[in-house]
Amino acid sequence: MTASFVIDPPATASVAVDGSAERFPVRRIFCVGRNYAAHAREMGTDPDREPPFFFTKPADAVVDSGGAVPYPPETSNFHFEIELVVAIGQAGFRIPEGKALDHVYGYAVGIDLTRRDLQGQAKDTGRPWDWGKAFDLSAPCAPLHTVANAGHPAAGRIWLAVNDDVKQDADINELIWSVPEIISICSQSMRLAPGDLIYTGTPAGVGPMVAGDRVTGGVDGLGEIALTIGDPV
Ligand code: MN
Repeated sequence: MTASFVIDPPATASVAVDGSAERFPVRRIFCVGRNYAAHAREMGTDPDREPPFFFTKPADAVVDSGGAVPYPPETSNFHFEIELVVAIGQAGFRIPEGKALDHVYGYAVGIDLTRRDLQGQAKDTGRPWDWGKAFDLSAPCAPLHTVANAGHPAAGRIWLAVNDDVKQDADINELIWSVPEIISICSQSMRLAPGDLIYTGTPAGVGPMVAGDRVTGGVDGLGEIALTIGDPV
């Protein structure tokens, strides 16, 4: 039976799929913190293999590549974080590492947009990170590449440039926690479901953007992402 609603139900958030007119519906967005050693150091923490931690963004924070993101409110330190994104296609709970990749639909290039000043205040005061991380339009995501087309990328360049000036340049083989490990660990706490995206963490070189900046980035084998920072809302 189809439910009826007292207001119009929200639209299903989605991301593009490379080579397809159909889109991938987004259920949840998980993000891994501090998953490259050099980035952990630049954020003032020890990159030893402490267990990974996660934070989330709302599904409708996704933005297609090629779009514009207005400079968000309540910040004066708006940062980029280029990331490898994993799209979950098969549900699973307590997934063993050796089976983790069976749950992947595909991969994409994403940017974990961050209000760094609000994140810093949250860290200092022991408050949640949401206002620093989970704001509107904070999860740009380029078209997904299916496993059938792209395989399971475990090495390759990951980079980001602002106005063609390269700011982040690393290799996804430098992930402290690999994709199978991240999926397995996340699934110990949450039943992963089709439509979940996992942003796997950013390498060193994060920094600020201003209105008018053109941001580009990529991961070898997964294409590129581009967005423009618009005037403040
Ligand atoms: Mn991040």
